[in-house]
This record gives sequence, C-alpha cells and structure tokens, in this order.
Amino acid sequence: MINTGNGLFADFVGLVQRKLLSSSLLVAGAGAIIAIVMMGLCGMVLYQSRQDALDHTRDSLRDIALIAERDIERNFELYELSLQAVVDGLKDPEIMALSPRLRREVLFDRAASAKYLGSMLVLDKKGNILLDSGSDTPRPGNFADREYFTLQRDNPALGVYLSDPYASRLRGGSPSIALTRRISNSDGSFAGIVLLTVNLDYFHQLFAGLSLGPHGSLSLIGKDGVMMMRQPYDARIISRNIKNASTFQHFMAQDEGSFGDTASIDGIRRLYWFRNFPNTPLIIMAAAAEQDIYAAWRGRALTIGSLMAAFGSTFIGLAALLGIQLRRRMRAESELSLLARTDGLTGLNNRRSLGEILDAEWRRAKRTRSVMSLLFVDIDRFKAYNDTYGHQAGDDALAEVARCITESIRRPTDTAARYGGEEFIVVLPDTPTAGAFEIAEKIRRAICNCGIEHAGSEHGRVTASIGAVSCAPQSDDDVTTVIRAADEALYDAKATGRNKVSLSRVSKI
Ligand code: GH3
Ligand code: MG
Ligand code: MG
Repeated sequence: MINTGNGLFADFVGLVQRKLLSSSLLVAGAGAIIAIVMMGLCGMVLYQSRQDALDHTRDSLRDIALIAERDIERNFELYELSLQAVVDGLKDPEIMALSPRLRREVLFDRAASAKYLGSMLVLDKKGNILLDSGSDTPRPGNFADREYFTLQRDNPALGVYLSDPYASRLRGGSPSIALTRRISNSDGSFAGIVLLTVNLDYFHQLFAGLSLGPHGSLSLIGKDGVMMMRQPYDARIISRNIKNASTFQHFMAQDEGSFGDTASIDGIRRLYWFRNFPNTPLIIMAAAAEQDIYAAWRGRALTIGSLMAAFGSTFIGLAALLGIQLRRRMRAESELSLLARTDGLTGLNNRRSLGEILDAEWRRAKRTRSVMSLLFVDIDRFKAYNDTYGHQAGDDALAEVARCITESIRRPTDTAARYGGEEFIVVLPDTPTAGAFEIAEKIRRAICNCGIEHAGSEHGRVTASIGAVSCAPQSDDDVTTVIRAADEALYDAKATGRNKVSLSRVSKI
C-alpha cells in the first residue's frame, strides 16, 4: 500500500476496502442463503411426502380392515339367523313331528350351505347331542364341559355367545369357534343349546387374500383379548390372550383409531389401524411395518437428498468462488484507481487528485464558513541540484522532501500533493493563519534538517521556500485565486532569501 500521508485518501482507501469486503461477502452469503433455502424447501417436500406415505398407508389399512369386517359381520348375521331359526323350529310341533330327514332339512337348511361351517348341533340340557345337521342319526357326543354350554346354562339372558377358539372334538381337533344360543322351556328353565361351529379356516382364507406388505399383519381379536386369527398365520398365536399387551389398551380406549407401536409378537414397529365390530364382540386390527411404508420413500429421499446436497454444495462453492473473483477484481480496480490518483515518485496525491480534494475542501469551507489554508512548497535551486548531482539524485531528493512534508502534517484532514516538478501544495482545512504558518515552518525546518547536501545553494543544503495563504471562502470566490495568492507569497519568499515562509497579503484570518 502506498503511503499517501493524507486523511481523505486514507478514508477513501478504507471505504473501498470495506466495500470490497462487504460486496464479496454479500455474494458468498447470498449464494449460501439461496442454497440453504433450497435445501430447506427440499427437506420440507421430502418430509411432507413421508407424511403422505404414512397417511396413504393408514387409508389402505382402514380399507382392508373394513373389507374383512364387512365379510365377517355379514356371515355372522346369517349364522345368528340360522341359530334363531333352529330355536324357533324346535318350538314348532309340526316341524318336530316330521321324519328325522325332513326335520333336519327344515331346521338346518340355511346353515348347512354356509361355507367353512363345521356343524350345527342341538344339545339337550345335559350337553348330549340331540339333533345334528350332519346326520339324521345324531353323532354321539357330550359338550357339557365346554364354556359355551355352561355360560348359556347359567345365564338365561346371554343371547348369542361367541366362544374362544378351541380344538373341535367332532372334526379331529381342527381349530374352531362356536356361536351358541340358549333353548329355554316355556317356564324359562334351561332346555339345552343350539350350537354352530365355524372353522377358523374361514378367517385364514379371508385374511390370506388381503395384502398388507411383506411385514404387515392382520388380526382378529375377541373383545376379551383372545387372538382368533392372525395373518401371517402361526398356530401358536391362536388362542393367545393379548389383553396385557400395550396395543390392546388402544382398543379399549376408542371404537376405532390408529397408532404406532412395536409388536410384542415379533418386535417389528408398525402402524396400526383397529376397529371394534359394531355388532360382534370382535376387534379387527390391520398393521403395516414402518420399514415397508417408508421403503419407496427412503429410496426417493436418498436420491433427491443426495442430488440436492450435491447441487447445494456446488452452488455454495460457486458463490464463494464468485465472491473471491469479485473481491480480486474489485481490489485490482481499487489499486488502479489508487494509482490513478497517486504520484508515482513521491507517493503523494497527484495533481488530478489535488484538484478534486481542493474543490471538495473549498466547498466544505464555504458551507461551514471555516478558514482554509494552502501552502505552496517549492524546492530552492533545484535545477542546479539536478545539474550537479544528476537526475536520479534529484528524484531521490524529491522523494525525501515529500516524506518531510508528509511527516509534518498529522491531522487526518490535512492533504499533501505534488503540484508538478519540484512544487508541492498542502491543503489545511479549518486552519487559520497562525496554524498554517506553524505547519509551514515545521515543513521548512524538516526539509532543511534533512541535511541533503546542495553545493549550488546559498544554504549548502536542500531547502524549500513556502508561500502560505489562509482565507474564509466567500460565495463568489474561486479556489484558483487562493492558489495564485499562495504562489505570490512563494515568489516573495524566493525574492527575500529562500528557505523561508512568506504569508500572502490576502491572508486576513
Ligand atoms: P528556484 O529556487 O527559483 O525555485 O529555482 P529552481 O531551480 O528550483 O527552479 P526552476 O523552476 O528553474 O527549476 C526547477 C527544476 O526542477 C527543473 C528540473 O530540472 C527540476 N525538476 C522538475 N521535476 C523534476 C523531477 O521529476 N525530477 C528531477 N530530478 N528534477 C525535476
Ligand atoms: Mg519551481
Ligand atoms: Mg524551485
């Protein structure tokens, strides 16, 4: 950095540097903000699509559970009608008077055709088979030990009862559930039950046709917590009571709903949708594993996320690069502008720059009604110096004199400039005559004290004469008149012995 030795110029350079830094930071910062905003938006879209995947799965679970529920409810409605038909038929003497074959056909005709139906039986009050839908001669058997029998016997108002799963004794132990209804005598006493068994294969087949993804599950649970059927099927799970599992607590709290939980059966985290059947003591629960729900989303998020990260970091990199380039360019421009304003030999402001500074200070002095001083510094007998010591030595002496001038002015608003050749001008804003004279003397002494030998001078060393002028500019004054006055004062100093300071006659302040 060139030492200009004047305040305005230092301000200008500082301003340019600050502007330069803030512009490049602005470009890099704006680039980073745009990239971050874009990545943020992308993140939001990905998060939303993750939520969408969850909502979509919840809808699918509800649809699947509803399909299963409707099928089961419709069949159970038919089974209940069949039970009622048998109870009614048993009270009809005409039907009971029919031959065993006809009576069987009349009593059990609707139920006999139902799919997955095991058998329909009428048990007497001791639990023995009285009538059998499968044979005119009832198969021998007693079911007095079954809960569905004892509950109906002991609770006249039980209505239709749905049993827990059990191994059928009549069908080689195949897993079944029973629907029962009490038969009462006219006095209300227990006469037996009518019983309809449903093979659990019905649920198994129904659930197998409904797809819930690789790790999904569909369960049918009794309201007492006993597992009736679960897809994927595992015989060991059937009849297990899950009343104490965390999932079951949700079923008790609401008729239907959705929640996320980890299954106690296989430890997989799933999204559940459940519904209590409105007319049957059953709960349907459909679940999809979170790993399946987000599988497609995860792949998409990985692709979009990595593309976005690559794009964002490239964008930030480019913005930083642009910022650096901009900074370099602005620095080059500011250096060029500095060079254009500086005298190459002395490092002081050049004449062009002096013109601008003078104009600005002149206007300011007018505006603020302050006193401005001007010093015209001219090296004595410099032609002779050049002739004696050579041009290069002359240049060195010029630079040394410039240094003396610079070091003699300390206020940031004071400015020194090379006016041309071996002449310099010092602008001293807000400085009346006394101050200007003091600074002029300081400069003169500094040059003289440098002790640069000058055989051709009457002082034996390099000295300078200074013309000083101070004035408070009026509105119609011109800055050139002040320079002329300083020049005249300088002429006076030259004429009266050199190495001295002369005050202009114009100076009144
Ligand atoms: P005076 O005491 O009356 O001012 O006499 P002077 O010789 O200093 O004045 P004059 O105007 O006659 O001569 C000025 C000389 O300054 C002429 C030239 O040789 C010298 N000069 C002007 N510019 C430069 C420069 O850039 N380098 C060098 N080395 N000398 C310069
Ligand atoms: Mg001269
Ligand atoms: Mg001279």
